[in-house]
Amino acid sequence: MLFAVISFNLNAQNNSKSSKKNNITYAIKNVNVIPMTKENKVIENATVVIKENKIYAINKSIPENSTIIDGKEKWLIPGLIDMHVHNLADGPYKSYPTKGPAIQFNTQNFMTLYVANGVTTVFELSARAEHIGQRNEIIRGDVMGPRIALAALIDGNNANLTATTPSDGRQAVRIAKGEGYEFIKVYAQLNIETYKAIIDEANKHGMKVVGHIPNAFEGKPATDFFVPHFGLIAHAEELSKQTEDFSLQKAQEFARLAKENGTWLIPNLSNLVYIAKQARSLDSVRNLKSFKFVHPLMQSKWIVSNQYNQGTNPKRIAYFDKLVDFHRKIVKAFKKEGVPMVAGTDAGTSGIVWGFSLHDELKLLVESGLTNEEALASATRLGAEWLEIGDKIGTIETGKFADLILLDKNPLDNINNTSEISGVFVNGKWLDKNKIDEMLSDVEEWNNTNKEKYNWKEVISKIRGNK
Ligand SMILES: [Zn+2]
Repeated sequence: MLFAVISFNLNAQNNSKSSKKNNITYAIKNVNVIPMTKENKVIENATVVIKENKIYAINKSIPENSTIIDGKEKWLIPGLIDMHVHNLADGPYKSYPTKGPAIQFNTQNFMTLYVANGVTTVFELSARAEHIGQRNEIIRGDVMGPRIALAALIDGNNANLTATTPSDGRQAVRIAKGEGYEFIKVYAQLNIETYKAIIDEANKHGMKVVGHIPNAFEGKPATDFFVPHFGLIAHAEELSKQTEDFSLQKAQEFARLAKENGTWLIPNLSNLVYIAKQARSLDSVRNLKSFKFVHPLMQSKWIVSNQYNQGTNPKRIAYFDKLVDFHRKIVKAFKKEGVPMVAGTDAGTSGIVWGFSLHDELKLLVESGLTNEEALASATRLGAEWLEIGDKIGTIETGKFADLILLDKNPLDNINNTSEISGVFVNGKWLDKNKIDEMLSDVEEWNNTNKEKYNWKEVISKIRGNK
């Protein structure tokens, strides 16, 4: 059923306005294709034809009237997948009935950050109705953006879906299913029995579960939280929160249990690396090259209300550094044990910029012991596999959706080369470097023009004042 839902959405894109508008057939000539299939045999000097929104042919004849893209000495990889994001969307809703959201976001300005970075699929891990709306805008062709998979978050308090008993937990899953979310995210404040009931119910409805390990498990053996059908750990931090023993042996124990249970991992190394930086100084945020592309409200929030920098002290910084170190051990241990890892960034938390952050994550994964190819697989084929859309995206093969990045340099030589973007195909639509730069400068200009209106403290006090 899960599969039916996803393929329904993907098929819907076939018939959308965007693909009708986009009837140009492209041929990339003389390009080196890195297919990211399991064998991943590089196809040198290939011709790749993109028709409608699909990869139409590789090394076949070029259809007449095709637009030719010179791929000489360039490298073609599948579009990237960020498996852990929090997208900006309209909200919150307060005050009187019929009143709209307090803040509205321009969906295109936001999604530009992804497509400019070749991030063509994202997994939204605290999905609400507005995220479904954003996906509709993209599918209709009104906005150029990534494919979006949606997980509804269930927590023990303070969430859209709250559950404190197993039967409420099961009901929350059924509500999420009914509302059209494809996945369930379990969160930190759930009690143990409710956590288990949610995962069991999700499985009954064919919904995979991603998430946090509830705080209630702290001090208990790790065997307790690796329950059947807990499919994906949202960050390595979930494991480091469960122990004070930051040894490789401990990491190996987690890896063994994950392997036995079929649980995959989003290492999300960048999260703690950036937290540790912010705990030291907010210059780490201000000086981000991508900061100017961040919506001004978030620019303001990340500076004036930065939870990692406020009340910072050397002891806390030292603790964050220890976590960073342990998370690297976790990646090594999971690799050794053969547990699949998928790249995710927690984009949207302070200092983690949508789209740009995935390239940082890939670099950190390589620094922690993955090969360049393994890091790329974590952000392409494996993410698609976990989402159960591996037959549609994640590799470069005939018949798959044309989500592609053309790179100036080979990322198998150096993972930093994923940022050397010459152009991106988003669902068959070609954006060359000039177009990407133009889109980004539109975002920057809008941000600069509107900065004054989005002072975090003023906006929050206005919302609280219900005006
Ligand atoms: Zn998150």
